[in-house]
Amino acid sequence: MELKGTAASPGIGIGRVTVVEEPDLAYTSRTVEDTAAEIERFNAAIAGYVAYTNAQADTMREQVGEKEAEILTGHVVMISDPFMQGEMTKLIEGGACAEDALVQICEMFATMFEASGDELTMQRATDVRDVKAGVLAELLNKRPVDIGALPQGTVIVTHDLTPSMTAGIRPGIIAAVVTETGGLTSHSAILARAMELPAVLSVPAACTTLSDGDLLIVNGSAGTVAVNPDEEALAAAREAQEAYAAEKAELAKFVGCRSMTADGTQVELFANIGKPEDATGAMEKDAEGIGLFRTEFLFMDKPTVPTEDEQFEAYKKAALICKGKPVIIRTLDIGGDKEVPCLGMEKEENPFLGFRAIRYCLAREDLYRTQLRALLRASAFGDIRIMVPLVTCVDELTAVKALIKRYMLEFDQEGIAYDSEIKVGIMVETPAAAMMADVLAEEADFFSIGTNDLTGYTMCADRGNEKVRYLYSTYNPAVLRSIKRVIEEGNKAGILVGMCGEAAADPMLVPLWIAFGLGEYSVSATSVLATRKQISLWTKAEAEELAERVMQLKTATEVADLLQESMR
Ligand code: PEP
Ligand code: MG
Repeated sequence: MELKGTAASPGIGIGRVTVVEEPDLAYTSRTVEDTAAEIERFNAAIAGYVAYTNAQADTMREQVGEKEAEILTGHVVMISDPFMQGEMTKLIEGGACAEDALVQICEMFATMFEASGDELTMQRATDVRDVKAGVLAELLNKRPVDIGALPQGTVIVTHDLTPSMTAGIRPGIIAAVVTETGGLTSHSAILARAMELPAVLSVPAACTTLSDGDLLIVNGSAGTVAVNPDEEALAAAREAQEAYAAEKAELAKFVGCRSMTADGTQVELFANIGKPEDATGAMEKDAEGIGLFRTEFLFMDKPTVPTEDEQFEAYKKAALICKGKPVIIRTLDIGGDKEVPCLGMEKEENPFLGFRAIRYCLAREDLYRTQLRALLRASAFGDIRIMVPLVTCVDELTAVKALIKRYMLEFDQEGIAYDSEIKVGIMVETPAAAMMADVLAEEADFFSIGTNDLTGYTMCADRGNEKVRYLYSTYNPAVLRSIKRVIEEGNKAGILVGMCGEAAADPMLVPLWIAFGLGEYSVSATSVLATRKQISLWTKAEAEELAERVMQLKTATEVADLLQESMR
């Protein structure tokens, strides 16, 4: 039997199932008379949960890393929030038992996060429920299964791999993870990838279909789970496991190498991040800088807009982690598919073509001033560059540059240090910017092509809409022509042209980017070494020869076919 799910963390794990069920947290709701005693009981449970979770975070920090431990310390921060605790206490003062107060308030937050429609905010619902279960277990004296005690070669099968469960996982002991829920950007997926643990998520009814002791081959690259396979399949899986390990070892050879083509054309290979701490992982994977710091993540999940000081600390942190390497920070790119609840933006008929990103920021100078000042202050601590999203006309860029000048004057008067030579560039991700690349290149210090949006806006196809998915492809000649033009115009003007959309790491497209003369690639941290390898496999002349053939093709399918057969 073979089950299918989401390929969430690559690699192949072979092992025996342990179904990890959540402890039974059922309780009987009651009304309390002695509310002071109930509040004391509630506070004791929270203190117990905080101590237990902090201890788990310490283990996680030691065994996996700071970033992963922060998910758990994030839970402690969440339950320590005075507003949340205050609301729970109010309910107890009104006669609710501690369990009811906890469940009601946590569910209220979870429902609010789920309703946001934004995948990342929706993930926070899992975190709140994780906190809820943890405190409830304390109240009911039922701590969860000790994952740390499971035997070598165990495949954990569970409904949802919560961060607190993950804390007990020791790499090398647990072979793989299979869950019933969770997507590519869920915390389970992030944690599994960080631990390089093969994982297949969203396998329907996994906990009931699979039983303790079943032998599984979990293919986290293909998203498949083979149940009780025969000897032949097992042998093939072991071979694939070895091939995967060899491939990883091969990529490790690219650590410390320069990023260049087979004939020595050097390019820059950066990483994309969403939080300052992600820069640590990017540096570990040998990225040469940060090509896209998506600052909207600092604004999501927050009840209020982060202050200038808070933002300054975040940008400075990224700069310090990168030790003088470039850090391209994109100013707030909100609207469209990215909701930031704390800004309370109005719903629009057509949000992708609406009041978003730079349009919104220029109209909200209070908000933009805070961000630009924070960026300028942080620029005294490293090579910070400012990137403006969703530019469609040159006026937007000149307006941003004028604001930056104004804030520099403010700092001169306040005696605050900043980099007076700070580079200000743009995302080229709209057809308008691509058409105006020659004009924009005179004003911008650099370009970074956002292929995710450029593909969508060029093809008029929403990246999230299944029905038009067939049109949403960077292989479309219309998109490729646009990208070629942008790179050529940028190079003609002598500015650095980079790419930070997903297509920068597509091994099939790398020869085209080499041929067009792309100067900087910004990819996810886990793709840095693979991209460096891909770049090294082509000479400029070979890439140009392929590009010439590709650019004569008429359809995305023809392009994909030729690129596929040419792949190295
Ligand atoms: C892009 O559009 O290619 C891009 C990198 O930005 P985002 O995916 O954040 O819209
Ligand atoms: Mg974009």
